[in-house]
Amino acid sequence: MDEKNLWDIVLADLELQVSKAVFQTLLSKTSLISLKNQTATIGCQKPMLVNLIENRYTGLLKKTLDHYTKSDIKLVFTTTAVKFQESIDGPLFTLKIPNIKQQAPGFKLNPDYNFQNFAVSSTNQMAYAAATAVANAPGVSYNPLFIYGGVGVGKTHLMQAIGHAIIEKNPLAKIIYCTGEEFTNEIIEAISNKTTGNFKKKYRQVDLLMIDDIQFIAGKYSIQEEFFHTFNAIHQVKKQIILISDRPPEEINKLEERLRSRFEQGLTIDIGPPDFELRTAILLIKAKQRGVDLPIEVAKLLSANVDNTRKLEGVFIRILSESKTRNIPIDLELVKNVLGKTVKTVPEKSNIVPQQVINAVASFYNLKLSQLKGNKRDKYLSLPRQVLYYLLRVEIGVPLVNIGEFLGGRDHTTVLHGVRKISSLLSTDIKLREDIVGIKNRFLG
Ligand code: ADP
Ligand code: MG
Repeated sequence: MDEKNLWDIVLADLELQVSKAVFQTLLSKTSLISLKNQTATIGCQKPMLVNLIENRYTGLLKKTLDHYTKSDIKLVFTTTAVKFQESIDGPLFTLKIPNIKQQAPGFKLNPDYNFQNFAVSSTNQMAYAAATAVANAPGVSYNPLFIYGGVGVGKTHLMQAIGHAIIEKNPLAKIIYCTGEEFTNEIIEAISNKTTGNFKKKYRQVDLLMIDDIQFIAGKYSIQEEFFHTFNAIHQVKKQIILISDRPPEEINKLEERLRSRFEQGLTIDIGPPDFELRTAILLIKAKQRGVDLPIEVAKLLSANVDNTRKLEGVFIRILSESKTRNIPIDLELVKNVLGKTVKTVPEKSNIVPQQVINAVASFYNLKLSQLKGNKRDKYLSLPRQVLYYLLRVEIGVPLVNIGEFLGGRDHTTVLHGVRKISSLLSTDIKLREDIVGIKNRFLG
């Protein structure tokens, strides 16, 4: 196969892997200039596209090219100097352009952190909805979008998914993704090199600014000052800003008041710790990405035993390597061996009886069972009761009528009203969402 044919096939494959816009604007305009000594030189029509394609699509191009050549190929990008091609006979004239630094360090988004690979459940559905809204209408719906939550809950993944989605629609969008720490270092460097002008220019002309772990700038007053101006400049021209933090703006110590109020100007949303179902779903996604056929009961057993996504990935990788080196199947036996002696069994919803849910709700709210089940209409009892209806109906699937009967003959419309009330509160009430996860953990174990 000659180079032209090979590239035609690679392009045809790429067309299926990226959006139409990305293909037409960027990838269709590339060519394979040469392929020798395991190095492919890829030509891009315009100098400005060289960096963009290299930054964003090296991984994808390499994977696809490796697939068809069955080897491990290094990629080099250059621009094809179209002007000269027409007048010069002979080999294609290529010009290596200097590395134009368009993107912040660490721009490269993780290709796996996209929306397709993001599992949604009650703990992250609000954040997911906000993220898709921002991806569909950047700069319009929520600006800034401020996402906060603990370690490993999927903040970075979700933010990068927005970045991918925006690039897919507008391949030439200028995007900066960096951490609060990188942002800080860049300012310090710009000040010491007297290049603050470049810094300003770079940050203020973006279409999307994503800063991860923004809490890092707290307590650093000159950095906050610079960030304040950057923020305003971007916000004023209606370009999108997304910020991530480990805690809500009001809990970031030593954050200047004016920044805090800017952060709260758009939408502030949390992602809670993943529940058992979500952890299982995440694990299945990770396995699929690695091309591993992970039996669902194995995924469940792992998720039941490890409650942090990062650790979960770590344990999963250990299991993979055990299975490979010892040449044994990935099964429950292996998982039990790796996890050690105290393996928790998988919570099965079908095994949960309503009494367990009632006990969990009662103990969570410090109530007696008789108070929950009884008919007293005290105000402090109404929310716990509604939560109980909600959990019985939505989480373990008890029919409305049975819930009513089980709780001492309540009308099923009362139960339905309670379930609806909680469902709607859940979309705005962060505290309630956390409470529900807390209660679920009590009966799911
Ligand atoms: P955070 O930034 O909140 O600390 P990350 O985004 O780095 O967390 O997520 C940790 C790991 O868990 C990543 O591999 C990520 O892909 C995965 N992960 C977290 N939440 C989800 C989810 N809802 N769907 C799929 N993967 C997830
Ligand atoms: Mg993160």
